[in-house]
Amino acid sequence: MIIKQRIFPRDIEQLQALERRLDANHPQLPKVKELLKNRLSGHKGELALNFPLSYLPENYRIFHHLRLYDGTHFFQIDCLILTDQWILIVEAKNIGGELFYNQRFNFLSRTWDDGAQTFSDPVLQVRRHRRQLQQWLHLKGFPVIPIYCLVANSHPGTSINTDDPSLDIVIRTDALPEKVDEIRQKHNRDRLPTSLPEMLSKEILEGDTPNNYDYMKELSINDSDIRKGVFCTSCQRLAVGWDYGQWKCSHCSHNDKTAHHPALRDFCLLKGPKITNKSLRDFLLIKSPTVAQGILKKVSLRYEGTKKSRVYFLRY
Ligand SMILES: [Zn+2]
Repeated sequence: MIIKQRIFPRDIEQLQALERRLDANHPQLPKVKELLKNRLSGHKGELALNFPLSYLPENYRIFHHLRLYDGTHFFQIDCLILTDQWILIVEAKNIGGELFYNQRFNFLSRTWDDGAQTFSDPVLQVRRHRRQLQQWLHLKGFPVIPIYCLVANSHPGTSINTDDPSLDIVIRTDALPEKVDEIRQKHNRDRLPTSLPEMLSKEILEGDTPNNYDYMKELSINDSDIRKGVFCTSCQRLAVGWDYGQWKCSHCSHNDKTAHHPALRDFCLLKGPKITNKSLRDFLLIKSPTVAQGILKKVSLRYEGTKKSRVYFLRY
């Protein structure tokens, strides 16, 4: 059973907002595109786990996308499976091409159409996450629980090789149910105390701390680099103006009463949920404080302060 569902990652939405809102010749745009490509590929790898995971017994507890704190560092687990005997953590990948897991020097190389590329070693990474999870369990006062780990690659055009014949934790995502069954058969030790999986489930959910990325800060992008305005919901141009109760596109003449929602969502993703009447006008490129007030009433959860210093909290 799925205890923690996967949601569409907010950091991907932040990168998509940046991609939309940076000028075509902004020096950081290629970096944003590259980060976005990698994150989307990683997300695809995680999504590909859904089908094989649906074959697992109903009493296996599945947690997607966790971020826990081991007392020194945060660590992220793509998928954690908790049974009444052991834990399995899965690192999801979606890397195509001829892959070579170099276990002597711990890197992953890939040869594909665009030439050779080197990646950090997912094997090293998932083993580090296992140690961090052990440490986390220890911190939370749990007994030692066996933890298995796997690297699952979902890309259909992949061949996998290694210099270590004993490396048995790299699999194709499709093979996950068989691999889990293999672990189950090999693992003939005692069951965990009856109440432990339930207690551990609660503790995992409580400890899960989603990351708040600030890509603008990370990539040294200034507020003034962000293109302002409302995109046309038909031709996608940044060319609409507020005109008697609706947004009108000067390019394709499309009208839309609600085109400010995606724009304010971009604002929220890039600058955070706090907004004032003035900053809303400034971002949507409208002049009237009354129109801004009308919009704010509908898009804010609550506000703090009075009159001109009033700060609203966007609900996106
Ligand atoms: Zn248009």
